[in-house]
Amino acid sequence: MNIILLGPPGAGKGTQAQRLQTDRGMVQLSTGDMLRAAVAAGTPVGLQAKAVMDAGQLVSDDIIVALISDRLDEPDTRAGVIFDGFPRTTAQADALDAMLATKGLTLDHVVELSVDEDALVDRITGRFSCAKCGAGYHDRFKPPVAPGVCDSCGSTEFKRRPDDNEETVRKRMTEYREKTAPISNYYREKGLLRQIDGMADIDVVYSEIVSILNGKS
Ligand code: AMP
Repeated sequence: MNIILLGPPGAGKGTQAQRLQTDRGMVQLSTGDMLRAAVAAGTPVGLQAKAVMDAGQLVSDDIIVALISDRLDEPDTRAGVIFDGFPRTTAQADALDAMLATKGLTLDHVVELSVDEDALVDRITGRFSCAKCGAGYHDRFKPPVAPGVCDSCGSTEFKRRPDDNEETVRKRMTEYREKTAPISNYYREKGLLRQIDGMADIDVVYSEIVSILNGKS
């Protein structure tokens, strides 16, 4: 099964995708994570993307589509993927359709997490993750059980994203509103879109996603 998690920055796509990956053996394909890895490795894509990401703008469709297409050719993705942060433009959505058809894959569900934009700034500026295993946390909503120690792997090193500051977050929201929000209609017209309340508790959001994937709602 292949699904898309749609929603603005901070809607909880990454958190939910990580859980689906752990519980259902699906593979999280986060274009943001791929780009951050490329930036950290200093690859040509990373060098091109860094300034754009730091400015809260969108990286070019060509770069993103190539990243996803290459990743889908790796055999682990046959277990099913969760597209997280992709597609972000209608051109990317069109390209995804074309590449799925070429690769003999289908898109089963598009789940949109609806959220209150003002609350998102709070959510995003408080988030951080384990530097070793990537587990996600939040200063107020989801601190580690033992302060300063990762619940998942015991590491004491954490990191914050450079684009998770208020000014850049506002730019990312504008990009979302202008370029990504129209994608909802694209998938609604295909009969694939399901919308759920992304402001609900993390566990409630997760169980609603699972119900959709299990065909129970
Ligand atoms: P994210 O981790 O999904 O919030 O993405 C972080 C940043 O990476 C975004 O603000 C964009 O600059 C870039 N990015 C990630 N995914 C895409 C995409 N599908 N299209 C264009 N830019 C992207």
